[in-house]
Amino acid sequence: MLKGKIKLFAIVAGITFGFILGEVKPGYADDGCIHESCEINWLSMSDEERAASFDFADGYKSFMHKARTELTAVSETIMLAEAAGFSRLNDQSPLAAGSRYYIVNRDRAIVLMVVGQRPISEGVRAVVAHIDSPRLELKGRPLYESQGFAQFQTNFHGGIKTYQWTNIPLALIGRVDKKDGSVVNISVGLEPDDPVFIIPDLAPHVDREYRDRSRSEAIKFEELDPIVGHLPKSAEENVSAQVKDYLWQTYGITLEDLVSAELSLVPAYPPRDIGFDRSLMAIYGQDDRLSAYASLRSILAIDAPEYTAIAHLVDNEETGSVNNTGAASTWFFDLLGALIYREKGDAYREPHLKRALAASKVISIDVNPGINPIWPSAFEAGNAPLLGHGINFKLYGRGFSANSEYIAWTRNYLDAAGVPWQTVTYKVNGGGGGTVGVFYSEQNMEVIDFGVPVLSIHTPYAVSSKSDVYWLSQAVTAFYKAN
Ligand code: MN
Ligand code: MN
Repeated sequence: MLKGKIKLFAIVAGITFGFILGEVKPGYADDGCIHESCEINWLSMSDEERAASFDFADGYKSFMHKARTELTAVSETIMLAEAAGFSRLNDQSPLAAGSRYYIVNRDRAIVLMVVGQRPISEGVRAVVAHIDSPRLELKGRPLYESQGFAQFQTNFHGGIKTYQWTNIPLALIGRVDKKDGSVVNISVGLEPDDPVFIIPDLAPHVDREYRDRSRSEAIKFEELDPIVGHLPKSAEENVSAQVKDYLWQTYGITLEDLVSAELSLVPAYPPRDIGFDRSLMAIYGQDDRLSAYASLRSILAIDAPEYTAIAHLVDNEETGSVNNTGAASTWFFDLLGALIYREKGDAYREPHLKRALAASKVISIDVNPGINPIWPSAFEAGNAPLLGHGINFKLYGRGFSANSEYIAWTRNYLDAAGVPWQTVTYKVNGGGGGTVGVFYSEQNMEVIDFGVPVLSIHTPYAVSSKSDVYWLSQAVTAFYKAN
Protein backbone atom coordinates (compact mmCIF):
# COMPACT_ATOMS: atom_id res chain seq x y z
CA MET A 1 0.00 0.00 0.00
CA LEU A 2 2.72 2.41 1.13
CA LYS A 3 4.85 1.29 -1.77
CA GLY A 4 1.95 2.08 -4.08
CA LYS A 5 1.61 5.55 -2.59
CA ILE A 6 5.31 6.25 -2.99
CA LYS A 7 5.13 5.09 -6.56
CA LEU A 8 2.17 7.36 -7.22
CA PHE A 9 4.02 10.26 -5.57
CA ALA A 10 7.04 9.58 -7.76
CA ILE A 11 4.87 9.63 -10.89
CA VAL A 12 3.15 12.85 -9.87
CA ALA A 13 6.46 14.44 -8.91
CA GLY A 14 8.02 13.25 -12.14
CA ILE A 15 5.23 14.74 -14.19
CA THR A 16 5.39 17.94 -12.18
CA PHE A 17 9.15 18.33 -12.49
CA GLY A 18 9.09 17.23 -16.10
CA PHE A 19 6.53 19.90 -16.75
CA ILE A 20 8.57 22.53 -14.99
CA LEU A 21 11.82 21.57 -16.67
CA GLY A 22 10.45 20.73 -20.08
CA GLU A 23 7.59 23.12 -20.68
CA VAL A 24 8.07 26.02 -18.35
CA LYS A 25 10.98 28.31 -17.88
CA PRO A 26 12.66 28.52 -14.47
CA GLY A 27 11.05 31.24 -12.43
CA TYR A 28 7.45 30.22 -12.97
CA ALA A 29 6.67 30.25 -9.27
CA ASP A 30 8.20 33.68 -8.85
CA ASP A 31 7.00 35.73 -11.76
CA GLY A 32 4.27 33.80 -13.50
CA CYS A 33 6.27 33.14 -16.64
CA ILE A 34 4.77 30.40 -18.75
CA HIS A 35 6.20 31.17 -22.13
CA GLU A 36 9.07 32.52 -24.20
CA SER A 37 7.93 36.00 -23.20
CA CYS A 38 9.46 35.41 -19.76
CA GLU A 39 12.54 36.88 -21.37
CA ILE A 40 12.44 40.48 -22.53
CA ASN A 41 12.01 40.56 -26.31
CA TRP A 42 15.32 42.28 -26.94
CA LEU A 43 17.34 39.30 -25.70
CA SER A 44 15.77 36.89 -28.16
CA MET A 45 15.62 39.26 -31.14
CA SER A 46 18.25 39.08 -33.85
CA ASP A 47 20.18 42.19 -34.85
CA GLU A 48 17.95 42.41 -37.93
CA GLU A 49 14.78 42.20 -35.84
CA ARG A 50 16.05 44.88 -33.46
CA ALA A 51 16.87 47.16 -36.37
CA ALA A 52 13.48 46.41 -37.96
CA SER A 53 11.67 47.30 -34.74
CA PHE A 54 13.52 50.63 -34.47
CA ASP A 55 12.69 51.40 -38.11
CA PHE A 56 9.09 50.45 -37.46
CA ALA A 57 9.05 52.81 -34.48
CA ASP A 58 10.23 55.71 -36.65
CA GLY A 59 7.28 55.22 -38.99
CA TYR A 60 4.99 54.86 -36.01
CA LYS A 61 6.17 58.11 -34.42
CA SER A 62 5.74 60.13 -37.59
CA PHE A 63 2.20 58.72 -38.06
CA MET A 64 1.35 59.48 -34.43
CA HIS A 65 2.62 63.04 -34.63
CA LYS A 66 -0.08 63.82 -37.17
CA ALA A 67 -2.80 61.30 -36.29
CA ARG A 68 -4.03 62.85 -33.03
CA THR A 69 -7.77 62.32 -33.47
CA GLU A 70 -9.99 59.90 -35.38
CA LEU A 71 -10.28 62.49 -38.18
CA THR A 72 -6.56 62.87 -38.72
CA ALA A 73 -5.96 59.15 -38.12
CA VAL A 74 -8.31 58.42 -41.04
CA SER A 75 -6.70 61.00 -43.33
CA GLU A 76 -3.18 59.78 -42.51
CA THR A 77 -4.31 56.17 -43.01
CA ILE A 78 -5.70 56.99 -46.45
CA MET A 79 -2.39 58.54 -47.48
CA LEU A 80 -0.41 55.47 -46.39
CA ALA A 81 -2.95 53.12 -47.96
CA GLU A 82 -2.93 54.85 -51.34
CA ALA A 83 0.86 54.83 -51.33
CA ALA A 84 0.64 51.05 -50.81
CA GLY A 85 -1.68 50.50 -53.77
CA PHE A 86 -5.05 50.66 -52.02
CA SER A 87 -7.90 52.53 -53.67
CA ARG A 88 -11.31 53.66 -52.50
CA LEU A 89 -13.89 50.91 -53.10
CA ASN A 90 -16.55 51.94 -55.60
CA ASP A 91 -19.51 50.23 -57.23
CA GLN A 92 -17.37 48.93 -60.09
CA SER A 93 -14.40 47.70 -58.04
CA PRO A 94 -13.79 44.02 -58.80
CA LEU A 95 -13.45 41.73 -55.77
CA ALA A 96 -10.57 39.76 -57.28
CA ALA A 97 -8.11 37.97 -55.00
CA GLY A 98 -5.39 40.40 -54.00
CA SER A 99 -7.47 43.55 -54.68
CA ARG A 100 -6.73 46.25 -52.12
CA TYR A 101 -9.42 48.68 -51.04
CA TYR A 102 -10.41 51.07 -48.31
CA ILE A 103 -13.88 52.21 -47.30
CA VAL A 104 -14.37 55.32 -45.14
CA ASN A 105 -17.20 55.77 -42.67
CA ARG A 106 -18.00 59.51 -42.39
CA ASP A 107 -14.32 60.58 -42.21
CA ARG A 108 -14.03 59.05 -38.69
CA ALA A 109 -13.64 55.31 -39.19
CA ILE A 110 -12.12 53.24 -41.97
CA VAL A 111 -11.94 49.68 -43.24
CA LEU A 112 -8.95 48.44 -45.21
CA MET A 113 -9.30 45.14 -47.01
CA VAL A 114 -7.24 42.77 -49.13
CA VAL A 115 -9.53 40.41 -50.97
CA GLY A 116 -8.77 36.75 -50.26
CA GLN A 117 -8.69 33.72 -52.49
CA ARG A 118 -11.88 32.39 -50.94
CA PRO A 119 -15.15 34.27 -51.29
CA ILE A 120 -16.06 36.66 -48.51
CA SER A 121 -19.16 34.55 -47.90
CA GLU A 122 -16.82 31.90 -46.43
CA GLY A 123 -15.72 34.31 -43.71
CA VAL A 124 -13.08 36.97 -43.19
CA ARG A 125 -10.11 37.64 -40.93
CA ALA A 126 -10.75 40.98 -39.29
CA VAL A 127 -8.69 43.07 -36.91
CA VAL A 128 -10.35 45.95 -35.13
CA ALA A 129 -8.73 48.79 -33.19
CA HIS A 130 -9.95 52.24 -32.20
CA ILE A 131 -8.55 55.55 -33.34
CA ASP A 132 -10.16 57.94 -30.84
CA SER A 133 -8.26 58.74 -27.65
CA PRO A 134 -9.06 60.49 -24.39
CA ARG A 135 -8.96 64.27 -24.85
CA LEU A 136 -10.78 67.50 -24.28
CA GLU A 137 -13.18 68.93 -26.83
CA LEU A 138 -14.89 72.27 -27.25
CA LYS A 139 -18.46 72.88 -26.19
CA GLY A 140 -20.82 74.29 -28.82
CA ARG A 141 -20.50 77.83 -27.49
CA PRO A 142 -16.93 77.71 -26.20
CA LEU A 143 -15.69 81.31 -26.11
CA TYR A 144 -15.83 83.34 -22.89
CA GLU A 145 -13.70 85.79 -21.02
CA SER A 146 -12.43 85.90 -17.44
CA GLN A 147 -10.04 88.42 -15.88
CA GLY A 148 -9.01 89.63 -19.32
CA PHE A 149 -8.23 86.16 -20.62
CA ALA A 150 -10.18 84.64 -23.51
CA GLN A 151 -10.91 80.99 -22.75
CA PHE A 152 -12.72 78.00 -24.22
CA GLN A 153 -15.31 75.93 -22.38
CA THR A 154 -14.50 72.24 -22.82
CA ASN A 155 -16.03 68.83 -22.43
CA PHE A 156 -14.05 65.59 -22.22
CA HIS A 157 -13.90 62.47 -24.39
CA GLY A 158 -12.87 59.28 -22.57
CA GLY A 159 -11.54 58.67 -19.09
CA ILE A 160 -9.05 61.35 -18.15
CA LYS A 161 -7.39 62.26 -14.87
CA THR A 162 -8.14 65.97 -14.95
CA TYR A 163 -5.04 67.11 -13.03
CA GLN A 164 -2.82 65.77 -15.82
CA TRP A 165 -4.22 68.26 -18.35
CA THR A 166 -3.08 71.50 -16.72
CA ASN A 167 0.13 73.23 -17.71
CA ILE A 168 0.83 71.11 -20.74
CA PRO A 169 0.92 72.36 -24.33
CA LEU A 170 -2.40 71.66 -26.02
CA ALA A 171 -3.08 71.65 -29.75
CA LEU A 172 -6.48 72.40 -31.28
CA ILE A 173 -7.38 69.89 -34.00
CA GLY A 174 -10.59 69.20 -35.87
CA ARG A 175 -13.18 70.49 -38.29
CA VAL A 176 -15.87 73.10 -38.56
CA ASP A 177 -18.82 72.34 -40.85
CA LYS A 178 -20.49 75.37 -42.38
CA LYS A 179 -24.07 75.75 -43.52
CA ASP A 180 -23.04 75.77 -47.18
CA GLY A 181 -21.64 72.23 -46.79
CA SER A 182 -18.00 73.27 -46.76
CA VAL A 183 -15.61 71.94 -44.17
CA VAL A 184 -12.87 73.98 -42.54
CA ASN A 185 -10.04 71.89 -41.11
CA ILE A 186 -8.19 73.35 -38.16
CA SER A 187 -4.82 72.32 -36.74
CA VAL A 188 -2.96 74.64 -34.39
CA GLY A 189 -0.11 73.58 -32.12
CA LEU A 190 1.70 70.73 -33.87
CA GLU A 191 4.16 72.73 -35.95
CA PRO A 192 7.23 74.05 -34.09
CA ASP A 193 6.26 77.67 -34.78
CA ASP A 194 2.59 77.25 -33.87
CA PRO A 195 1.17 78.70 -30.67
CA VAL A 196 -0.31 76.23 -28.18
CA PHE A 197 -3.05 76.51 -25.56
CA ILE A 198 -2.70 75.95 -21.83
CA ILE A 199 -4.89 75.39 -18.77
CA PRO A 200 -3.15 77.30 -15.98
CA ASP A 201 -2.83 75.52 -12.62
CA LEU A 202 -2.58 77.40 -9.32
CA ALA A 203 0.87 78.19 -7.97
CA PRO A 204 1.77 76.58 -4.60
CA HIS A 205 2.02 80.09 -3.18
CA VAL A 206 -1.73 80.58 -3.35
CA ASP A 207 -3.33 77.14 -3.37
CA ARG A 208 -3.61 76.40 0.37
CA GLU A 209 -7.39 76.35 0.40
CA TYR A 210 -7.46 73.99 -2.60
CA ARG A 211 -4.93 71.45 -1.29
CA ASP A 212 -7.41 69.24 0.49
CA ARG A 213 -9.29 68.41 -2.66
CA SER A 214 -9.23 64.67 -3.42
CA ARG A 215 -7.11 63.42 -6.30
CA SER A 216 -10.13 62.93 -8.56
CA GLU A 217 -11.37 66.45 -7.78
CA ALA A 218 -8.00 68.19 -7.75
CA ILE A 219 -9.04 69.88 -10.97
CA LYS A 220 -12.77 69.86 -11.65
CA PHE A 221 -13.98 69.12 -15.15
CA GLU A 222 -15.51 72.57 -15.52
CA GLU A 223 -12.14 74.06 -14.62
CA LEU A 224 -10.43 72.57 -17.69
CA ASP A 225 -10.67 75.74 -19.75
CA PRO A 226 -7.59 76.71 -21.74
CA ILE A 227 -6.42 80.24 -22.37
CA VAL A 228 -6.79 81.13 -26.04
CA GLY A 229 -6.02 84.85 -26.08
CA HIS A 230 -4.99 87.88 -24.01
CA LEU A 231 -4.73 90.75 -26.49
CA PRO A 232 -7.73 93.09 -26.52
CA LYS A 233 -9.00 94.13 -29.91
CA SER A 234 -8.90 97.80 -28.96
CA ALA A 235 -9.50 100.14 -26.05
CA GLU A 236 -13.22 99.68 -26.64
CA GLU A 237 -13.39 96.01 -27.63
CA ASN A 238 -12.18 93.15 -25.47
CA VAL A 239 -10.08 90.07 -26.09
CA SER A 240 -13.11 87.91 -27.01
CA ALA A 241 -13.78 90.27 -29.91
CA GLN A 242 -10.20 89.86 -31.00
CA VAL A 243 -10.49 86.03 -30.93
CA LYS A 244 -13.75 86.24 -32.87
CA ASP A 245 -12.07 88.43 -35.49
CA TYR A 246 -9.12 86.06 -35.68
CA LEU A 247 -11.39 83.06 -36.36
CA TRP A 248 -13.21 84.97 -39.09
CA GLN A 249 -10.10 86.36 -40.75
CA THR A 250 -8.07 83.15 -40.54
CA TYR A 251 -10.71 80.48 -41.14
CA GLY A 252 -13.82 82.31 -42.34
CA ILE A 253 -15.80 80.94 -39.41
CA THR A 254 -18.18 82.61 -37.00
CA LEU A 255 -18.97 81.71 -33.41
CA GLU A 256 -22.23 80.20 -34.68
CA ASP A 257 -20.22 77.88 -36.95
CA LEU A 258 -18.62 76.39 -33.83
CA VAL A 259 -21.99 74.80 -33.06
CA SER A 260 -21.42 72.38 -35.97
CA ALA A 261 -17.79 71.63 -35.21
CA GLU A 262 -15.68 68.85 -33.78
CA LEU A 263 -12.67 70.52 -32.23
CA SER A 264 -10.39 68.60 -29.91
CA LEU A 265 -7.72 69.79 -27.53
CA VAL A 266 -4.96 67.22 -27.52
CA PRO A 267 -1.44 67.19 -26.04
CA ALA A 268 0.92 68.90 -28.44
CA TYR A 269 4.00 66.98 -27.37
CA PRO A 270 5.86 65.37 -30.26
CA PRO A 271 6.50 61.62 -29.97
CA ARG A 272 9.86 61.06 -28.24
CA ASP A 273 12.17 58.16 -27.46
CA ILE A 274 12.57 57.35 -23.77
CA GLY A 275 15.71 56.24 -21.98
CA PHE A 276 19.40 56.24 -22.87
CA ASP A 277 18.85 53.16 -25.02
CA ARG A 278 15.80 54.61 -26.83
CA SER A 279 13.94 51.31 -26.49
CA LEU A 280 10.75 52.99 -25.20
CA MET A 281 8.56 55.72 -26.67
CA ALA A 282 6.40 58.41 -25.10
CA ILE A 283 3.50 59.36 -27.38
CA TYR A 284 0.05 60.86 -26.94
CA GLY A 285 -2.80 58.64 -28.09
CA GLN A 286 -1.19 55.19 -28.02
CA ASP A 287 -4.59 54.03 -26.76
CA ASP A 288 -5.37 52.87 -29.30
CA ARG A 289 -3.64 54.19 -32.38
CA LEU A 290 -0.71 51.95 -31.40
CA SER A 291 -2.85 48.96 -32.37
CA ALA A 292 -4.37 50.79 -35.33
CA TYR A 293 -0.95 51.62 -36.78
CA ALA A 294 0.48 48.12 -36.22
CA SER A 295 -2.59 46.60 -37.90
CA LEU A 296 -2.40 49.12 -40.72
CA ARG A 297 1.24 48.33 -41.43
CA SER A 298 0.40 44.65 -41.49
CA ILE A 299 -2.52 44.87 -43.92
CA LEU A 300 -0.64 47.28 -46.20
CA ALA A 301 1.97 44.56 -46.72
CA ILE A 302 -0.34 41.55 -47.16
CA ASP A 303 -0.67 39.81 -50.55
CA ALA A 304 -3.77 37.82 -51.53
CA PRO A 305 -4.44 35.83 -48.34
CA GLU A 306 -6.66 32.75 -48.27
CA TYR A 307 -9.41 34.61 -46.40
CA THR A 308 -10.15 38.27 -47.02
CA ALA A 309 -8.07 40.35 -44.61
CA ILE A 310 -9.74 43.34 -42.98
CA ALA A 311 -8.59 46.08 -40.63
CA HIS A 312 -11.43 48.11 -39.13
CA LEU A 313 -10.32 51.28 -37.37
CA VAL A 314 -13.23 52.64 -35.34
CA ASP A 315 -14.21 55.80 -33.52
CA ASN A 316 -15.71 56.48 -30.09
CA GLU A 317 -14.42 53.44 -28.20
CA GLU A 318 -13.51 55.75 -25.35
CA THR A 319 -17.13 56.82 -24.95
CA GLY A 320 -18.74 53.39 -25.23
CA SER A 321 -18.52 52.76 -29.01
CA VAL A 322 -21.48 55.06 -29.54
CA ASN A 323 -22.74 56.79 -32.68
CA ASN A 324 -22.66 55.53 -36.27
CA THR A 325 -18.86 55.69 -36.43
CA GLY A 326 -18.40 53.53 -33.32
CA ALA A 327 -18.19 49.74 -33.19
CA ALA A 328 -21.77 49.39 -31.94
CA SER A 329 -23.04 50.74 -35.27
CA THR A 330 -24.33 48.34 -37.95
CA TRP A 331 -22.04 50.05 -40.48
CA PHE A 332 -19.39 47.31 -40.57
CA PHE A 333 -21.91 44.47 -40.81
CA ASP A 334 -23.86 46.33 -43.49
CA LEU A 335 -20.60 46.62 -45.42
CA LEU A 336 -19.96 42.87 -45.15
CA GLY A 337 -23.49 42.20 -46.39
CA ALA A 338 -22.98 44.56 -49.32
CA LEU A 339 -19.72 42.82 -50.25
CA ILE A 340 -21.36 39.40 -50.18
CA TYR A 341 -24.24 40.79 -52.23
CA ARG A 342 -21.66 41.63 -54.88
CA GLU A 343 -20.50 38.02 -54.87
CA LYS A 344 -23.98 36.48 -54.95
CA GLY A 345 -25.96 38.99 -56.96
CA ASP A 346 -29.72 38.51 -56.75
CA ALA A 347 -29.20 35.06 -55.22
CA TYR A 348 -28.06 36.87 -52.03
CA ARG A 349 -30.01 36.00 -48.90
CA GLU A 350 -29.44 36.97 -45.29
CA PRO A 351 -28.12 33.49 -44.32
CA HIS A 352 -25.12 34.14 -46.61
CA LEU A 353 -24.12 37.01 -44.34
CA LYS A 354 -24.90 35.07 -41.17
CA ARG A 355 -22.79 32.13 -42.32
CA ALA A 356 -19.92 34.48 -43.22
CA LEU A 357 -20.08 36.05 -39.75
CA ALA A 358 -20.06 32.65 -38.06
CA ALA A 359 -17.07 31.54 -40.14
CA SER A 360 -15.09 34.71 -39.47
CA LYS A 361 -12.27 35.24 -37.02
CA VAL A 362 -11.65 38.56 -35.30
CA ILE A 363 -8.93 40.09 -33.16
CA SER A 364 -10.01 43.08 -31.14
CA ILE A 365 -6.80 44.89 -30.27
CA ASP A 366 -6.55 47.54 -27.61
CA VAL A 367 -3.65 48.50 -25.38
CA ASN A 368 -3.79 47.76 -21.66
CA PRO A 369 -1.74 48.71 -18.61
CA GLY A 370 1.62 46.98 -18.23
CA ILE A 371 3.18 46.54 -14.80
CA ASN A 372 4.19 49.97 -13.53
CA PRO A 373 7.58 49.90 -11.74
CA ILE A 374 6.49 52.50 -9.19
CA TRP A 375 3.18 50.84 -8.27
CA PRO A 376 3.64 47.13 -9.06
CA SER A 377 1.09 46.23 -6.40
CA ALA A 378 -1.70 47.55 -8.62
CA PHE A 379 -1.22 44.28 -10.50
CA GLU A 380 -1.36 40.59 -9.66
CA ALA A 381 2.08 40.00 -11.09
CA GLY A 382 1.58 36.38 -12.11
CA ASN A 383 -1.19 37.43 -14.52
CA ALA A 384 0.00 40.86 -15.53
CA PRO A 385 1.92 41.86 -18.64
CA LEU A 386 5.35 43.45 -18.82
CA LEU A 387 6.46 46.02 -21.34
CA GLY A 388 8.88 44.56 -23.86
CA HIS A 389 7.58 41.01 -23.41
CA GLY A 390 5.31 40.88 -26.41
CA ILE A 391 1.61 41.18 -27.08
CA ASN A 392 -0.86 39.94 -24.49
CA PHE A 393 -4.14 38.07 -24.64
CA LYS A 394 -6.81 39.41 -22.34
CA LEU A 395 -8.13 36.64 -20.15
CA TYR A 396 -10.95 38.57 -18.53
CA GLY A 397 -12.70 35.49 -17.18
CA ARG A 398 -16.36 35.46 -16.15
CA GLY A 399 -17.45 34.66 -19.69
CA PHE A 400 -15.68 37.60 -21.29
CA SER A 401 -12.60 35.71 -22.53
CA ALA A 402 -12.35 34.24 -26.01
CA ASN A 403 -13.43 30.60 -26.24
CA SER A 404 -10.54 28.36 -25.15
CA GLU A 405 -10.29 26.57 -28.51
CA TYR A 406 -9.91 29.92 -30.25
CA ILE A 407 -7.18 30.89 -27.78
CA ALA A 408 -5.41 27.59 -28.53
CA TRP A 409 -5.69 28.24 -32.29
CA THR A 410 -4.22 31.71 -31.68
CA ARG A 411 -1.30 30.36 -29.61
CA ASN A 412 -0.52 27.98 -32.42
CA TYR A 413 -0.08 30.54 -35.20
CA LEU A 414 1.77 32.98 -32.93
CA ASP A 415 4.22 30.30 -31.81
CA ALA A 416 4.69 29.17 -35.42
CA ALA A 417 5.52 32.77 -36.37
CA GLY A 418 7.84 33.23 -33.37
CA VAL A 419 5.78 36.08 -31.89
CA PRO A 420 6.30 36.53 -28.14
CA TRP A 421 3.07 36.67 -26.17
CA GLN A 422 1.88 36.90 -22.59
CA THR A 423 -1.49 37.23 -20.87
CA VAL A 424 -3.32 39.73 -18.72
CA THR A 425 -6.04 39.34 -16.14
CA TYR A 426 -6.70 42.48 -14.15
CA LYS A 427 -6.45 42.30 -10.38
CA VAL A 428 -9.83 40.88 -9.43
CA ASN A 429 -12.26 43.70 -8.69
CA GLY A 430 -9.33 46.12 -8.93
CA GLY A 431 -10.45 47.94 -12.03
CA GLY A 432 -10.73 46.83 -15.60
CA GLY A 433 -11.69 48.01 -19.01
CA GLY A 434 -13.70 46.62 -21.89
CA THR A 435 -13.27 47.31 -25.52
CA VAL A 436 -14.93 46.75 -28.89
CA GLY A 437 -14.72 42.94 -29.17
CA VAL A 438 -18.19 42.48 -27.73
CA PHE A 439 -19.83 44.11 -30.74
CA TYR A 440 -18.31 41.50 -33.05
CA SER A 441 -18.97 38.50 -30.81
CA GLU A 442 -22.59 39.67 -30.58
CA GLN A 443 -22.75 39.09 -34.33
CA ASN A 444 -21.66 35.48 -33.79
CA MET A 445 -18.06 36.07 -34.91
CA GLU A 446 -15.16 34.36 -33.10
CA VAL A 447 -13.33 37.12 -31.21
CA ILE A 448 -10.16 37.30 -29.14
CA ASP A 449 -8.94 40.41 -27.36
CA PHE A 450 -5.28 41.23 -27.83
CA GLY A 451 -3.46 44.02 -26.11
CA VAL A 452 -0.06 45.55 -25.81
CA PRO A 453 1.17 46.59 -22.37
CA VAL A 454 1.63 50.33 -22.07
CA LEU A 455 2.48 52.61 -19.12
CA SER A 456 0.47 55.73 -18.32
CA ILE A 457 -2.54 54.87 -20.49
CA HIS A 458 -5.04 57.75 -20.82
CA THR A 459 -2.43 60.28 -19.74
CA PRO A 460 -1.20 62.96 -22.13
CA TYR A 461 1.99 60.97 -22.79
CA ALA A 462 1.86 57.16 -22.65
CA VAL A 463 4.90 54.86 -22.80
CA SER A 464 5.34 51.76 -24.95
CA SER A 465 8.17 49.44 -25.96
CA LYS A 466 9.35 49.58 -29.56
CA SER A 467 9.66 45.81 -29.54
CA ASP A 468 6.02 45.26 -28.57
CA VAL A 469 4.69 47.51 -31.33
CA TYR A 470 6.82 45.65 -33.85
CA TRP A 471 5.68 42.25 -32.61
CA LEU A 472 2.05 43.28 -32.64
CA SER A 473 2.32 43.97 -36.33
CA GLN A 474 4.00 40.58 -36.84
CA ALA A 475 1.17 38.98 -34.86
CA VAL A 476 -1.48 40.56 -37.08
CA THR A 477 0.37 39.39 -40.19
CA ALA A 478 0.52 35.86 -38.77
CA PHE A 479 -3.24 36.03 -38.09
CA TYR A 480 -4.05 37.12 -41.63
CA LYS A 481 -2.01 34.19 -42.96
CA ALA A 482 -3.17 31.54 -40.47
CA ASN A 483 -5.46 28.74 -41.64
MN1 MN B 1 -8.53 51.58 -25.79
MN1 MN C 1 -8.93 53.76 -23.50
